Amino acid sequence: MFRKIQMLAWVVASTLTLNAQKSTSTKLERPKLVVGLVVDQMRWDYLYRYYDKFGNDGFKRLLNQGFSLNNVHINYVPTVTAIGHTSIYTGSVPAIHGIAGNDWTDRATGKSIYCTTDESVQPVGTTNAKVGSHSPKNLWSSTITDELRIATNFQGKVVGVSLKDRASILPAGHNPTGAFWFDDSSGNFVTSSYYMNDLPQWMKNFNAQNLPEKLVANGWDTLLPINQYTESSPDNSPWEGLLGSAKTPTFPYSNLAADYQQKKDDIRYTPFGNTLTLKLAEASVEGESLGKDAVTDFLAINLASTDYAGHKFGPNAIEVEDVYLRLDRDLAAFFSFLDAKVGKNQYTVFLSADHGGAHSVGFLQEHKMATGFFGDGAKASLNQNLKQRYGVDNLIMDIDNYQIYLNPDLLSKNKLDLNTVADQLVDDLNKDQTILFAVNLKKVGQSALPEPIKTRVVNGYNWQRSGDIQLISHDSMLPTYAKTGTTHSVWNSYDSHIPLIFMGWGIKNGESNAAHNMTDIAPTIATLLRIQFPSGNIGNPIVEAIGK
Ligand SMILES: [Zn+2]
Repeated sequence: MFRKIQMLAWVVASTLTLNAQKSTSTKLERPKLVVGLVVDQMRWDYLYRYYDKFGNDGFKRLLNQGFSLNNVHINYVPTVTAIGHTSIYTGSVPAIHGIAGNDWTDRATGKSIYCTTDESVQPVGTTNAKVGSHSPKNLWSSTITDELRIATNFQGKVVGVSLKDRASILPAGHNPTGAFWFDDSSGNFVTSSYYMNDLPQWMKNFNAQNLPEKLVANGWDTLLPINQYTESSPDNSPWEGLLGSAKTPTFPYSNLAADYQQKKDDIRYTPFGNTLTLKLAEASVEGESLGKDAVTDFLAINLASTDYAGHKFGPNAIEVEDVYLRLDRDLAAFFSFLDAKVGKNQYTVFLSADHGGAHSVGFLQEHKMATGFFGDGAKASLNQNLKQRYGVDNLIMDIDNYQIYLNPDLLSKNKLDLNTVADQLVDDLNKDQTILFAVNLKKVGQSALPEPIKTRVVNGYNWQRSGDIQLISHDSMLPTYAKTGTTHSVWNSYDSHIPLIFMGWGIKNGESNAAHNMTDIAPTIATLLRIQFPSGNIGNPIVEAIGK
């Protein structure tokens, strides 16, 4: 008997050794490059809304060669750009990673804090401090890009590019090779002294090309004959905003070149902002030799013009359709660039969105859908009510991200208990027919909020940075500042249902209708690369997408 066990132990041990030898004798395989494409404000349904107008090599290449997840939702509120990018790259949520909004209110000073502003760093490539003084200092969790840097002992390069500072900085993490964003005052891409003290030569060369000016030189007309845009409303719809000096929201935008000379940020609202960003992505692949050697690199790209155009024109505008059709062609060119430079199937791409967007109020009204505006003058009228009750003015410090911030100093000076005031305010607000729910954020767990709203509110609540009361608006009710175009921020599917497609090295071909969360993206990439999950990760790898 003893001999038998001994024999068995020997067999087991030698098998283990053999297996160990097997894995150590084979080199670890990874893709040469991971490319993250986050299409700002891309609703999931755009993939199919414009499907018949897409070419074969852009969105359709992703769908036909990659793996598409059809039911991915954002598992927190508020659904905005800074949080979306942070949550994709950390696999985490505002309660943990600290990015509680694009802006949030600092209770000590009452001032608005912008997510990436860092006055301790200097602008690089511009003299404009507002544009250049940014860093990831407010980001508490590690990103998948940080984990790649650590896993490769800082040999794997990481570059972030976007028109938006926050959408470049937060995905690139704490210690990237570089993060670059657009400067409206010069038309150049810039960075900060957090990353480097001088722009790399390849970036100086890129800026010297003056590409934005060339891209807007011929104005903006539709890619296809305008009568083929049957997926969208008539060109001159009253709920569309105006671009630059245009008198009507109609094609062609022939003043674009002249407008750009006056106000360089006009390029952001056009498809050329995306073209510019993808050209910069190509320049960074060349300049930093991304995907050239055996060590995996990471290129994090945000395509922001879809968001600017969505805000200005609204989802049903021909302008937005044209931005997507042109992005589709730009993606095709970018993928063929990657095929040539890195090699087909040598890189892994994922495409997702930081949030979606509601339909325009005017468009919904036009078609008899439930909609409307809310929140006009809310701060003043709520403060007036509180003054009548407690005899103290300005108890509400701010309303930001659909959250009410009470002034802690005024409360304590007047011996008022925050919870008591918040609870009474919540009771008042819940009698108000213009909102769906109000909830004291410290008591969300005990509230009657239905799922999945409750979980999303809990995940989005950062007790140091978020407000005291969360407002949940009625479906498709927009804040009054979105009179034309649209906005986003809420839990509803139009804001929370995002595309997610993986393609390339290590990715199966197919699709799934299973439910997944935005926070599953980072652990899926970590699993694919066999590296550690980001520090605050709460997601799970999407195993159905990985493998041969
Ligand atoms: Zn937006």
